Amino acid sequence: MKTVQDWINDNPLIEKLVQTKEVFWVNPKYQTSQTDVKLPLNEENVKDAEERLQRFAPYIAKVFPETRKLEGIIESPVIPIPAMQQQQLSHMHGNTLEGRFVLKCDNDLPISGSIKARGGIYEVLKHAETLAIQHGLLAENDDYSIFASEKFRTFFSQYSIAVGSTGNLGLSIGIMSAVLGFQVTVHMSADAKQWKKDLLKSKGVEVIEYQDDYSLAVKEGRKQAQSQKNCHFVDDENSRDLFLGYAVAAFRLKKQLEDQNIIADDDHPLFVYLPCGVGGGPGGVAFGLKLVYGDKVHCFFAEPTHSPCMLLGLATGLHDSISVQDFGIDNLTAADGLAVGRPSGFVGKTIEALLSGSYTIDDNELFRLLSVMADHENIHLEPSATAGLIGPVKLMTENEGRQYIQHHHLADKMKNATHLIWATGGSMVPGDEMEKYYKKGKALL
Ligand SMILES: *Cc1c(COP(=O)(O)O)cnc(C)c1O
Repeated sequence: MKTVQDWINDNPLIEKLVQTKEVFWVNPKYQTSQTDVKLPLNEENVKDAEERLQRFAPYIAKVFPETRKLEGIIESPVIPIPAMQQQQLSHMHGNTLEGRFVLKCDNDLPISGSIKARGGIYEVLKHAETLAIQHGLLAENDDYSIFASEKFRTFFSQYSIAVGSTGNLGLSIGIMSAVLGFQVTVHMSADAKQWKKDLLKSKGVEVIEYQDDYSLAVKEGRKQAQSQKNCHFVDDENSRDLFLGYAVAAFRLKKQLEDQNIIADDDHPLFVYLPCGVGGGPGGVAFGLKLVYGDKVHCFFAEPTHSPCMLLGLATGLHDSISVQDFGIDNLTAADGLAVGRPSGFVGKTIEALLSGSYTIDDNELFRLLSVMADHENIHLEPSATAGLIGPVKLMTENEGRQYIQHHHLADKMKNATHLIWATGGSMVPGDEMEKYYKKGKALL
């Protein structure tokens, strides 16, 4: 076994991570034309998830009126952010920022206001469907709005759902499960914001609070759920269903880009920047994107300098057998959605050959980006959700990023590039909390 000191001595990247300095990392295991890459999930699985969400759409439209515009499909827009792109030029030291910036607005996703409205809600719906079919209450070609009936709610009240979370996953699972009629318990880590706990309690969700980080909340939640009859534990560290719920986003994105005449092909590369916590959200989306776009898409993850769990797992190849704390990194960050010390091993291994690279970002930079977005685009993101915004600048200014561009023969195509920044949360943040974030960012500018 290599000691932490061995890792630091052997690998300058690890040394910088341990010092909580910002890094940009290109994944040496990234493979183009991933024909030989063996993956545990495939396109059929993602299509199956998309069809399930279609079946549930009439029900979702019925119980969540805000989803009626899209007929019960939980989806967010893609919008240009030219003013933000202009602002980022100040970081460019005289270079230009080629291509165009667009924002994927998962901060505005209905029901729970974050990317967790994808995977989290999908897994709860799938579980509900499975139970209903098993008990002869439902056939796949029924109108799923019957899930809103008293009969269904009474049926689901014999079952419970539990989850461990830093906040947003708890919101998604809690809200969706409670509406279906399940008993729900959310195990919250110490990072979880008070307003998220209060909101859940107001919906009749049981909230158990821990003085420790996310990994412990998940572990305790899993243990308690196993000892209970009829309890389904949504396992953020291992769940295929969560992952597939996220992956559906990629199929829909393809259509959204086409509708806006945004081209992603061999001459028009698509770069996607995804904030990463345990890995399920960004991993699922990246997986879907590689299915849809292959080598035309380049996916980068972003993590806080104090919680670089996925990067550490990938760079060492040790995945979930190590935590940032093992390396003396404290996992303390204001980006509560990303405050994860140990990555998902399942996700790390699944995306190992698909991910182009990753970078870390300082908390102060997250707040600065938050206030710049508010001032120049009038878009209000939570700190976790801003991590992707600096991605294009990093790619085009860091040595490793420029080497990546050269290595993949992208230099003369960068003027045609689209930089898609995944904004992962924000619309549920109460106004006074958002004001505090904004002021903090302003003071740091
Ligand atoms: C959960 C979350 C992420 C990251 O998703 P993981 O599945 O934990 O990697 C990013 N941003 C926000 C706002 C989140 O809540």
